Amino acid sequence: MQQLPPYIQKLDGDLWLTENERENLRLSYRIKEIIVAEQSPYQHVMILDSYDFGRMLVLDGVVQTTSLDGFIYNEMIAHVPLSLHPDPQHVLIIGGGDCGAAREATKHDHVQQIDLVEIDELVVTFCKEHLQEVSGNLSDPRVRFLYQDGVEFVKQAVNQYDVIIVDSSDPVGPAKLLFEQEFYRNIYNALKKDGVMVCQSQSPIFHFELVEHIHRSIKSLFPVTHMYTAVVPTYPGGLWSFTLGSKRELPDPAQLRFDIEAQYVNEGILKRCFQLPQFMKAKLSL
Ligand code: SAM
Repeated sequence: MQQLPPYIQKLDGDLWLTENERENLRLSYRIKEIIVAEQSPYQHVMILDSYDFGRMLVLDGVVQTTSLDGFIYNEMIAHVPLSLHPDPQHVLIIGGGDCGAAREATKHDHVQQIDLVEIDELVVTFCKEHLQEVSGNLSDPRVRFLYQDGVEFVKQAVNQYDVIIVDSSDPVGPAKLLFEQEFYRNIYNALKKDGVMVCQSQSPIFHFELVEHIHRSIKSLFPVTHMYTAVVPTYPGGLWSFTLGSKRELPDPAQLRFDIEAQYVNEGILKRCFQLPQFMKAKLSL
């Protein structure tokens, strides 16, 4: 009998991926097919075809993005900062190996170059080939793939980027340092004088301490800080947060025009995504 990859079990003839979300919470997805599974130098990487979420990228047993709802997250992490910046020509994406955020960024005409700094080349290779609903098999000449540690990369980048998008996995393993103050300080330095950064800042339902830490860290560096949210069914808790830092005043989101072809973002979403639920405002003293 062929050995199953880690995190996959066979129960009554069906394949299941079980994600150990936290001590008392596990999420299981019924799987149609294991498309590819391999250990990279950094993590265990799989593309699975699931019944309810379609194809999904799984890193170390944790679902990162899916065909069903990857567009919500990727559009929100890319289009919000790129719409707020008046002239986003040079973009840096840290992480984002599924290529979804970079694919959205290519839809902005102002953008001349996108540096995608992903630590794990295998994630990009697998997603381009087997997760095209998310990656679109991205091959835009403006995208430069750099297979490096984003933490090290931003240490040497000074005054280079208009927009930086931190599309990281959870704060464990190689992504741990992507949630630390020193990393955010280097991001600040890597941005030009009117630069904007955004990072995915986890679940306000399950990880509020982390949400608070990220918000506090970014607020201590940037004169303008905002948080926004979207509902991404794949992520535990559903409600997901993004934290944005800007070196200068931003336009009123209600006045923004948005004429890019998208599935989730529109002018109404840009306007209302900054409206936070009361529990978040209270806990963040906003
Ligand atoms: N949207 C997803 C989510 O919120 O769960 C995450 C998208 S993406 C798949 C995250 C990527 O960050 C992974 O491919 C991982 O390899 C990459 N990554 C983790 N640590 C990194 C680091 N230090 N430098 C660059 N990329 C890193």
